[in-house]
Amino acid sequence: MHVMELPRKVVVGEDIINDLGAILEELEIGNSALIVWGPNVKKIVGDTLLQSLEKKKFAINWEFSGPSTFHEVERIQKLAKKTGSSFIIGVGGGRSIDIAKLASFKSKLPFVSVPTSASHDGISSPFASVKGLDRPYSVVAKPPIAIVADIGIISKAPFPLMVSGCGDLISKLTAVRDWQLARDKTGEYYGGYSASLALLSADLVIENSSEIASKSGDSVRVVVEALISAGVAAGIAGSSRPCSGSEHLFSHAMDIVAPGKGMHGEKCGMGTVMMAKLHGLDYKQVRDALDRIGGPTKASEIGASEEEIIRALILAREIRKERYTILNEANLTEQTAGTLARNTGVI
Ligand SMILES: [Zn+2]
Repeated sequence: MHVMELPRKVVVGEDIINDLGAILEELEIGNSALIVWGPNVKKIVGDTLLQSLEKKKFAINWEFSGPSTFHEVERIQKLAKKTGSSFIIGVGGGRSIDIAKLASFKSKLPFVSVPTSASHDGISSPFASVKGLDRPYSVVAKPPIAIVADIGIISKAPFPLMVSGCGDLISKLTAVRDWQLARDKTGEYYGGYSASLALLSADLVIENSSEIASKSGDSVRVVVEALISAGVAAGIAGSSRPCSGSEHLFSHAMDIVAPGKGMHGEKCGMGTVMMAKLHGLDYKQVRDALDRIGGPTKASEIGASEEEIIRALILAREIRKERYTILNEANLTEQTAGTLARNTGVI
């Protein structure tokens, strides 16, 4: 049996935050909303968003999201119960979306994703990552029932966030290769359709890298739509396979070895350069695209040391042992990890 879980409604456009109330009304998911956001996001979109819901007579409760921990997920879960909320809206870049997504999953309530930046594919995927779990990678929740991505708001987010989103998208190149490798070596289920969809997202970023760098035309929309498609690809696959491979394992290892250095997508992008080399792909094309966009391709650009990169490369394979990737074949040692990082220009 293969189960695909997909969003019911995806709305992308300028100033559509004004229509959030109407969009929610059409979904018929109840009339009591719990909004989870950060203080900054509330300052920027709060009035417009609340007015849009008030116009459609929704009962509204809202809460600031705390640190990205499991405890925080439980707090929001309790609040949803206490307020009798019929659905939860996560508004923000990463933390609020993750917390709201997991809290709704655990409360068996619909989750609505309202991204205010384009920094990773969690805005649409069925996965969430919070600290305090027994593993350093994302856990399975449910995909959002609706994604409402206001391009006007996302365009105003700091540019490095979108650059990080591009790193997360480019990482699908090696994630899909790792998935193919697992299919060939271990007989793991492989979904050609979701793999193609994820690859398309990565190709779009590479093809449009100059436009993204110059912030021209529809570049924000291209990145947002690609991130949404990548998250949907994971929903079709029924696993994070098309979106997360050895490059993500490297990123998770960096979270442990050098916490706080570099954003998720930045580390994934850098990991993709090195994993592409291991896979025998054109790693220079990946590196050039990231360079053009302004994403970090060198350890020093995220404040990491040579030693931290090498340690993370060696640790990566241990992060998620059941997931077969190129790291199982490469068997990196201190020496070979160092050579890989040096040959790709990361250190
Ligand atoms: Zn990612």
